[in-house]
Amino acid sequence: MSVIILTVHTSSTLGQSNRGSREKTPSWAATRLCESPYEPLCAGARWRPATACLPVQGAAPPAASESAATMSGVSFRYSEAGVRKVRRVQFGILGPEELKASSVCNIVTDRTFENGKPIPGGLMDPALGAIDRLLNCASCGMDSSECPGHFGHLELTKPMYHVSFLNTTLKVLRCVCFSCSAILGDQPAEDGKANPDGVRLAAATRKKNPAQRPRAMLDFAKTKKTCWSCSAPQPNFKRDGLTIAAEFKESTDDHERKMEVQPERAHSILKGITDSDALRLGFNPIYARPEWMVLTVLPIPPPHVRPAV
Ligand SMILES: [Zn+2]
Ligand SMILES: [Zn+2]
Repeated sequence: MSVIILTVHTSSTLGQSNRGSREKTPSWAATRLCESPYEPLCAGARWRPATACLPVQGAAPPAASESAATMSGVSFRYSEAGVRKVRRVQFGILGPEELKASSVCNIVTDRTFENGKPIPGGLMDPALGAIDRLLNCASCGMDSSECPGHFGHLELTKPMYHVSFLNTTLKVLRCVCFSCSAILGDQPAEDGKANPDGVRLAAATRKKNPAQRPRAMLDFAKTKKTCWSCSAPQPNFKRDGLTIAAEFKESTDDHERKMEVQPERAHSILKGITDSDALRLGFNPIYARPEWMVLTVLPIPPPHVRPAV
């Protein structure tokens, strides 16, 4: 779903990105008026080759009635937003805080309508967007043809595995301690002597492609039956359908010999990984903390993009 986030870095404004050319008063800024199919949109704008046209600074935007531009029969409302240049694209995982910050409402009930009206906090909350011709969006005030739809969120009572990240979750769990989340085999060198695990770990964390780091660490992490830091026994993990199973050598007071790793347990193990260890495992903690692979907040897509049932 929308748990993968894409951050687009742009130049702050087109004006800034073209500062140099503006100072020299480029030829496009001379006299020609817009010749694009957007002509009604930019009355008074200068013509500019190969890009969209911008209204001249200070010029009043055209009235809403005359501002709609038509392209392939679709009308768009006038927008004052500047055109920006994409400089960099960053992929990451949406964390619970970011999900909540970008959400317009908290969904608390699975009910939808009452007496023909959407229930606030329900799956058709009016803040999620306008789909009814007679009702404007409670978030942006637009009607059903203009409102793009807005995401809500649902706070889960218990964490749950994200099916797309289950294999990566399993891979990371195999690299860290079941009890204290330290990277297995990360024992500090004694008396200045480099231990062989440390050398292999350093080689794994130097891999240029971060996705290859856990795979390289797995080779020696899976041979560790106890943790170097807390001496806790380590299980063998196995994916079992949509769950993760752990098998220890013997049962103790803390765990049985064979057990299912509940998502809340996996979440707390991944949460215990320090930022520096996460970085060595191939996760940039700014964009993708390991515990974000286990869902605690579920994004609720706007009605516009839900499949018809
Ligand atoms: Zn809206
Ligand atoms: Zn440990």
